[in-house]
Amino acid sequence: MTLIIRDRKITRRVFAQRGSLAVAGGMFIPMAGNDPEISSPVVSGEGQSSSERLAMYQEESARGVVCRICPNECTLKEGEISDCRNRVVRKSKLYTMAFGNPCAVNSDPVEKKPLYHFLPGSSAFSIATAGCNFACLNCQNWTISQTSPDKTKNFDLPPGDVVASAKANNCRSIAYTYSEPVTFYEYVYETSKIARKEGILNIMVSNGYINPAPLKELCRFIDGANIDLKSFSDATYLKLNGGKLQPVLDALKIYRDEGVWLEITNLIIPGYNDTADEIRLMCRWLFSNGFADTPLHFTRFQPLYKLEHLPPTPLAVLNSAAGIAREAGLRYVYVGNVPGAGTDDTVCPECGQKVVERTGFRVISNKITGGKCTCGVVIPGRWS
Ligand code: SF4
Repeated sequence: MTLIIRDRKITRRVFAQRGSLAVAGGMFIPMAGNDPEISSPVVSGEGQSSSERLAMYQEESARGVVCRICPNECTLKEGEISDCRNRVVRKSKLYTMAFGNPCAVNSDPVEKKPLYHFLPGSSAFSIATAGCNFACLNCQNWTISQTSPDKTKNFDLPPGDVVASAKANNCRSIAYTYSEPVTFYEYVYETSKIARKEGILNIMVSNGYINPAPLKELCRFIDGANIDLKSFSDATYLKLNGGKLQPVLDALKIYRDEGVWLEITNLIIPGYNDTADEIRLMCRWLFSNGFADTPLHFTRFQPLYKLEHLPPTPLAVLNSAAGIAREAGLRYVYVGNVPGAGTDDTVCPECGQKVVERTGFRVISNKITGGKCTCGVVIPGRWS
């Protein structure tokens, strides 16, 4: 594979040295070694990195500067770093340190996000900076999510260059992914505005932990999203992720209501969110809140990070979850991270025909024409 970044070709060999993407579901292995094409943020005489920008959605308060981007609402004093590790207060103003300096860049099949009803078979130019507003015990990308941009090796890639690189690599979309794009909000916002003008679509792959106002503003430029619904329990959100459930449910509704094509992922972790009762509650909530046609991806947990001691999710649990979801009325249910299981195909809910067949992240056949199955039923999604 050759990736073109800022008019320069990066070969599979160089990419492998840097540690490009490795595994299904957006797992990223960080870059390693010294490479002259990668730069660390340059620090100016004033102590401000060239990757720093004045942050959006900041407010002054008696206790410090408040960030209103996500429900963590960090209140920071001079020099303090945010929970997401990429925002800092300097001279009483909040700055993002994650602007134009992605530590991960790749061209992925859009199916890897996963998005199954969104330009099937196309490529998404995928970027991430360091930082996250969660601290998931099972994070598969913890080496970039649980650190700050001054500790990762970064590309120098301002918004216009991201869009140009997406075009140069024949990508129809840009995916903000791997770590948590909510925390590099300004970079996403500026890049997606340019991409929209240039006819490139924008995709958020996110935990959905964002406040309503910044989300609605961002949705003006976002075309597709895959949001992790990590469990259906506030206690589990607190224990597993360091967050809360309700803001994520609110974000799902906002994405949908603002006209963004939405798909949802639920990673099932043994002992955390795998009971039939919880899965049934979640699916019934989705159905009764208008998400019957929103694709739901159950994905398999693999032992990682702080949950290395747990076993992978048993296939029986995943298949049972899919059955519960269908019984609740959800029409497009997938089981991911299970190669060869045949649970990646899109099936017409009316005639039962396989309308999109997939193997892993590859589309084998696509019978959808004009957004419809050959039987005439509309299959929701963005198909062209
Ligand atoms: S985006 Fe970062 S700085 Fe802002 S509230 Fe969330 S965790 Fe805190």
